[in-house]
Amino acid sequence: MDLTYSDEHEAFRREVRAFLAANKEHYPKPFGVNRPPDDARAWQRRLIEHGYAARTIPEIYGGFGAEPDILKSHIIAEEFSRAKAPWGLVSQGISMLVPTLLEMGSEEQKRRWIPPTLRGEIVWCQGYSEPGAGSDLASLSTSAVEDGDDFIINGQKIWTTTAHAADMIFCLVRTEPDAPNKYLGISYLIFPMDTPGIEIRPLMTMTGNAEFNEVFFTDVRVPKSQVVGARGQGWTVSNATLKHERGMMGDPNASAARMNSILQLMGEETLDGMRVIDMPVFRDRAMRLQGKVLAMQYHGMRLLTMQANRQDPGLARLIVKLQACEINHQLAALAVDVMGEMGLLYHDSPLSRSHGVWQKRYMFDLAMIIGGGTAQIQKNLIAERGLGLPREPKLAKAK
Ligand SMILES: Cc1cc2nc3c(=O)[nH]c(=O)nc-3n(C[C@H](O)[C@H](O)[C@H](O)COP(=O)(O)OP(=O)(O)OC[C@H]3O[C@@H](n4cnc5c(N)ncnc54)[C@H](O)[C@@H]3O)c2cc1C
Repeated sequence: MDLTYSDEHEAFRREVRAFLAANKEHYPKPFGVNRPPDDARAWQRRLIEHGYAARTIPEIYGGFGAEPDILKSHIIAEEFSRAKAPWGLVSQGISMLVPTLLEMGSEEQKRRWIPPTLRGEIVWCQGYSEPGAGSDLASLSTSAVEDGDDFIINGQKIWTTTAHAADMIFCLVRTEPDAPNKYLGISYLIFPMDTPGIEIRPLMTMTGNAEFNEVFFTDVRVPKSQVVGARGQGWTVSNATLKHERGMMGDPNASAARMNSILQLMGEETLDGMRVIDMPVFRDRAMRLQGKVLAMQYHGMRLLTMQANRQDPGLARLIVKLQACEINHQLAALAVDVMGEMGLLYHDSPLSRSHGVWQKRYMFDLAMIIGGGTAQIQKNLIAERGLGLPREPKLAKAK
């Protein structure tokens, strides 16, 4: 990996900087775990048009169509972070389903679903977890029974983020209950959330918001043509999506942007007349985290390089989600502590700092250590798939 910036890269940096300076009035407002409002969708279209979002996705699928260039991607991330500019949309549709369709979808599915998803016009949710199938996802029991050209779906999903705002779901169902093992006979279906028979019930988290939901299916009719990949091979497709989900949750550039905001906060907050950034205890904590964030960023570039060279990153990819989600939580904890007693105030207090964003992150980022596969499950994967340690013993089956 050559990290030297060429003249072309320096010119590219100037171009990104000029774009951000000229487009400040178009920056959208934050909108949480909801449908992207008009200003966020307009910003996304603008970013795609200039190659700052969906950069390497082919133009026929609504992307910018650039060749992968790790340094250019890094420059974009650095400049957006420096300017505190909002990134392009990050969502389960854009960051998880789109790359899955690119890898495994039919040509018809790619052309139909990817362009409007990239523009933020279609919001997706992920129907994987069930009350009896979380870490052990392959035990899922939502059934899809054949009826002519359709499947009839019955069952329940849980922890379904954004289901309340979603147009579409990518959903794991069991189409062959008699398959020889639990990993076979699962299919990956996509269908609209307004299909008759779907009921959504919100679940409140400790942030005070209902970011996720329970979703119930009663005789929901979905055409068989909506399977992604082959019927009965949904486990393979779902693992492709999980790989992208873990990459999204472990985005090192997002952690770097947070680190920069915290350093700024430390320069603004004072204790007994002294800037927090000048206090050794806080400075030491910040520097340790900054070191970890930098390591994550370089590791991210290594992964992108391997991806561009079509090499399998193996263990290098497995550590990303575990590391990033734990570091993000430590970053939020630092920010809350930097604000002293004001760090206890939430966004509903007129005295809260930064609109209570760090307090909310502190609570939400704890959930991120669980979502997309818990830290314990990530450690199992690293041990078994990455380090080649013996597999954990499976529970004996009841006779
Ligand atoms: C914020 C958030 C958003 C989410 N969004 C979605 C979504 O959009 N769609 C979706 O389908 N799901 C979603 N989930 C669900 C998430 O994928 C599951 O919560 C997660 O996979 C864990 O499953 P579980 O909650 O059933 O816990 P369980 O599997 O019951 O685990 C309970 C505890 O046991 C531990 N454990 C379980 N098995 C093992 C093992 N073999 N070895 C060691 N420890 C083990 C776990 O680490 C955990 O601590 C979300 C979760 C969160 C927190």
